[in-house]
Parts: sequence; C-alpha cells; structure tokens
Amino acid sequence: MTNTTLSQRLSQDLSELRDSGLLIHPRVLDAPNRARTRVDGKEVINLASNNYLGFADHPALKEKAARFLQDWGAGAGAVRTIAGTLRIHEDFEEQLAHFKHTGSALVLQSGFTTNQGVLGTLLRAGDLVVSDALNHASIIDGLRLVKATKKVYAHADLGELEQLLRDNPTDGLKMVVTDGVFSMDGDIAPLDQLVPLARRYGAVVYVDDAHGSGVLGKAGRGTVHHFGFEHADDVIQVGTLSKAWGVVGGYAAGHADLRQLLINRARPYLFSTAHPPAVVGALSAALDLVQSDPSFMERLWDNTRFFKAELTRLGFDLMGSQTPITPVRFGETETAFKASRMLFQKGIFAVGLGFPTVPKGQARIRNIVTAEHTRTDLEQAISAYEEVGKALGVI
Ligand SMILES: *Cc1c(COP(=O)(O)O)cnc(C)c1O
Repeated sequence: MTNTTLSQRLSQDLSELRDSGLLIHPRVLDAPNRARTRVDGKEVINLASNNYLGFADHPALKEKAARFLQDWGAGAGAVRTIAGTLRIHEDFEEQLAHFKHTGSALVLQSGFTTNQGVLGTLLRAGDLVVSDALNHASIIDGLRLVKATKKVYAHADLGELEQLLRDNPTDGLKMVVTDGVFSMDGDIAPLDQLVPLARRYGAVVYVDDAHGSGVLGKAGRGTVHHFGFEHADDVIQVGTLSKAWGVVGGYAAGHADLRQLLINRARPYLFSTAHPPAVVGALSAALDLVQSDPSFMERLWDNTRFFKAELTRLGFDLMGSQTPITPVRFGETETAFKASRMLFQKGIFAVGLGFPTVPKGQARIRNIVTAEHTRTDLEQAISAYEEVGKALGVI
C-alpha cells in the first residue's frame, strides 16, 4: 500500500473544486481600496468592500499610522504577554472601551482569532452553547475548539432557540451566540427579543458585531448599543477592527474581569504577536474621526437608503436587508456569477455569491455601500444594474 502523495492531494482537491465551479481566483486591486479603484487593470466603482466609512485609505488614519510607525517601530516585537504590550496598545484599548461604553476592551489580531480566543476561553465541557445557523465561519471554527454541548437554531428563529434552551438544562454556563448583523443577508439580530429570552433561561448572549461596528448605534458603537444593552454584564460584545474601522484587528468588550481572564487564557493573545504600531495608530485615528465627525455615518446611511430605494423601485429583491449590506437576488448561482461579470464589464465591481456560500436558489450579488460613494457613483451602479437585470430577465 502506498500512501497519498502531496501532489495527489493537491491535484485531486483542485480538480474537484474546478469541476464544481468553485475554484476561487481573487480579483486584484491595483490601487487602494476606495469607492472608485482599479481592479485587474480596470477602473471600477467598488461595491465589494467592507470599507463602510471609507477609512481604509483615509489621510487621518494614514497620518497617525505613519507617526506611530516612526515613534514606535515597525513591529511590536513579541506577543502581548511577554514583551509585546506597548503603551499605545493599552491606550487604544482604553479608548475603545470608552467608546463602546463597556468597562474594558481587549484587542486581538483579527475578528477571526477573537472568536477562537474568546469562545475557547469561556466555554468548556458541561456548558451549553446555542448558535444561529448563519453565524460566521470564525464562530463555527471557534466552537469546534470547545467541548461544550453545541446546538444550532435556524437563522433568527427565536422559537427554536427557546426550545433548545428549555430542552438542554445544565448547571454549567449557557450561551447564545449570534452575529449582530448577518453578512450575507444584511439583517440585524433581534437582540431586543433575544436578550430577554436568553435571560429567562439564565443564558448570556455573545454578539459578534463585525458588520455592526461603525454602522449601527450612536457613532457606530454597534448592534448592542443600538438595542441599549451596552451596560449589560450578561452581553458580551466581540467584533472586528477590519471592516468599518478600515484596518485590521478584533476585540472583546465587556466587564474588566472578562479582559483579565482573556489575557490569561485566550490563545491568540498568548501565542501570536501583537499588532504593529502603525495598525494601532490608524485604529486610534479611526475612533477619533467617527466621534468628531458624524458625517461619515450620515453619508453611509444616506447612500444606503438611496441605493436600496432605487434598486427596489427597479423591481430587484433585496432579501430583507436592514443595513448597508445590500444583497440583490439573482436566483441560480450561474445567473449571479454571470451578472457579476456583466457588471464588471460595465465598471461595477460587486461579487456574486452562490451555493454553497448561500442556500440553493438564493444566489445573489452582495453590494456594500460606503460613506465614500458619491451620488454619481451610485447612479452609475444603479443604471448598470438595470441593464443587467433586464438582460438576465430578473426584473
Ligand atoms: C468578517 C467577520 C469576521 C472576521 O473578521 P476579521 O477581522 O476579518 O478576521 C468575524 N466575524 C464576523 C461576523 C465577520 O463578518
């Protein structure tokens, strides 16, 4: 018997992907990620980013990043617990906790590692964790690391959530885990009902607010703030600094004891190097900017309302989105991918999502409107949508 060679593994897996049409070829940006950019050599209006506030290439972020780079160096030099905690890391966490109205905050390398670190720290055998079926991949992976009893409820189905909480009693910790804003449909987790429901069963609520931070709540404080639970010590907020905040990173915000325990137990915090100073500088400038200038969020939401109203008027199905994430339904996976290619030809960069990323028959193009788009950008995109929608018989 001979064992599998590396080249067999690679070529078999790749041909499976190729045969099912799932092989990914990332598009390459030839310029900074802005509302208008150049992709694979072509000038486009960019509706594919998570750059909600237009911070990714903002001068204020770049200026403070450059200053911190000069003053503090290119790298942090170690993991946070050994010798990698610079004064600027601690200062930024205080700034973030103050912004979020939570007692404390801890920053990790990314939103992805935050879910691994926090879920892995808090949950253990004998606990119960109940997770929304549409939660992000990093939550799913984070939960794979824990030995708690795991249950999944159908997306936003509070009836099923209640049943699972009722039918799985434990004297361990109970936790409900949900995205704050769901990245594929753009709907908001119903925390106004979900938090009281969880409380009736003694469960804490863990909200991953990657797409809600910088988008919902006063000055972008997030989904938890939007529903008024930011002072609740049975609601844990995690999120990313990589989307609206324009840079990279993840955070957990809550009681000071949460931070203390994470410092001691969260494996990405303990075993992966701290953010470089430029990242900290850019993030700190992002928080300053959103609090001193409300126009970023105003433009984000003005643009969102305009774009959605026009697409709806044309007859497109926006799949119930409540946020700047604007899915446009095309039905079959092939149709959505074709629409994306046609839009690109017309200078609109928006990505098609099909099965298995979204359920069969619900293939879509996901657009994310940003504060940086002008009315002209959006009008141009809308007329391209009109032509493509008509050509494909979707409207
Ligand atoms: C994007 C996303 C993440 C990952 O965040 P990164 O900072 O990019 O690693 C985690 N959770 C949710 C819900 C997300 O949408």
